[in-house]
Amino acid sequence: SGASGGALSLRGVTKDFGRTRAVEDVTLEIAQGEFVSLLGPSGSGKSTILMAIAGFVAPERGEILLDGRPILGLPPEQRAFGVVFQGYALFPHMTVAGNVEYPLKLRGIPRAERRERLAKALDQVRLGPLAGRYPRQLSGGQQQRVALARALVFEPPVILLDEPLSALDKKLRVDLQIELKALHERLGTTFVNVTHDQEEAMNMSDRIVILNEGRILQSGAPEALYNAPASRFVADFLGRAN
Ligand code: ADP
Ligand code: MG
Repeated sequence: SGASGGALSLRGVTKDFGRTRAVEDVTLEIAQGEFVSLLGPSGSGKSTILMAIAGFVAPERGEILLDGRPILGLPPEQRAFGVVFQGYALFPHMTVAGNVEYPLKLRGIPRAERRERLAKALDQVRLGPLAGRYPRQLSGGQQQRVALARALVFEPPVILLDEPLSALDKKLRVDLQIELKALHERLGTTFVNVTHDQEEAMNMSDRIVILNEGRILQSGAPEALYNAPASRFVADFLGRAN
């Protein structure tokens, strides 16, 4: 789609929840068009980092830049990210089309443009035939695609995904890993994916950032991490026999 923009910089990002330091001094450069996975155990700060990028969490310290421009002062709707939330967060009383169109309505996009964007987003995830269904009438994989279409509907330069596949069974997860990777290649936009599943991160990502206790332990291409883990923790986490 001739994607332009979508380079992210995080500089010294720190976030506390009360006395819990969820994210500690995270500095990270993500290139335009890159597929990066934040990988770490539960509670390691992955979602907090993603939500800080999206604008739903305000860091104590640090800077976040999109294409060189600071964005921490902007509300989520002005940050131009497509977000797929953990558990999808679909509206149960709205159809597939209603769910995907919702962010467009919210921003006052005129009807003709809404229709066009809706059709395109549904087509990208092959949901056109299911446009009139309600979420409860869909499989887990189909619901996941609705959430994805809703994130794509503005053709954002960056897509943020929080555990997009973790609710699905093993077979479907592998199928959707392949689909997500293909979608990424087709769109050419930046993907930042949060997961605790090392296999998923290895299969889909250009680069993996390993987190523990709110800190980055190591970052690199999947093979590079696997072949040269910087610590026992990283080796164990990637399931490498020592
Ligand atoms: P992950 O996504 O890697 O599982 P999170 O970013 O959700 O980790 O959480 C990191 C830490 O911050 C955990 O200790 C978690 O309990 C805490 N935390 C996250 N969100 C909140 C919140 N809204 N209020 C209080 N503590 C939170
Ligand atoms: Mg999380």
